[in-house]
Amino acid sequence: MNMQGLEAILARLRAAEAAAGRAPGSVTLVAVSKVQPEERVRAVLLAGQRVFGENRVQEAQGRWTPLRSEFEGVRLHLIGPLQTNKARAAVELFDAIHTLDRPRLAETLARLAQERGASPEVFAQVNTGREPQKAGCLPEDADALVAQARSLDLPLVGLMCIPPEGEDPVPHFRLLREIAERNGLSGLSMGMSGDFEAAVAEGATHVRVGSAIFGERT
Ligand SMILES: *Cc1c(COP(=O)(O)O)cnc(C)c1O
Repeated sequence: MNMQGLEAILARLRAAEAAAGRAPGSVTLVAVSKVQPEERVRAVLLAGQRVFGENRVQEAQGRWTPLRSEFEGVRLHLIGPLQTNKARAAVELFDAIHTLDRPRLAETLARLAQERGASPEVFAQVNTGREPQKAGCLPEDADALVAQARSLDLPLVGLMCIPPEGEDPVPHFRLLREIAERNGLSGLSMGMSGDFEAAVAEGATHVRVGSAIFGERT
């Protein structure tokens, strides 16, 4: 079995970077703390991790508002679908939003960013597996969404995908990279506990790892 826990995952990530000829530290580890008990999250904070991923705005607010006053330098990434009526809270809480998936959300995020004079970094989510139950724009709609986000001056830094469960993720990573390259985007949010090393080999800049760091979610 592969080694688990923060130190083991960081070691595996550094090895995957080296194997792919990437600079050490060039891939950001987003530790996905959704649903995890607070003592596990605290242990990972105490071990030095500062970048965390959450999939629900309210849950993240409740957890991180107090933890942020205790631990400096925490950066939060929203990795779950974002409803328009939660966009304001999301823009206030998160440093990055990985789940821009529709024109209307782009408009809302842009308006909120203008009001605040600041915006989280944004990734557009692409539903590479065309799964009806999954968020993300269809691959053929990605170029238009990217163009729209740019025309609205959103700080779009890359693309995100969640490959279908039980399928080889590599073709999905490659498709995402191809769409990013033709749009001049350098960020690639892809790879989770079971496949982050393969994602790094395909060019991931952000991997989102939960259970392999914190243990299984209950
Ligand atoms: C839960 C989640 C992850 C982390 O999954 P693990 O398999 O526990 O690493 C990554 N990305 C997204 C979008 C998630 O919802």
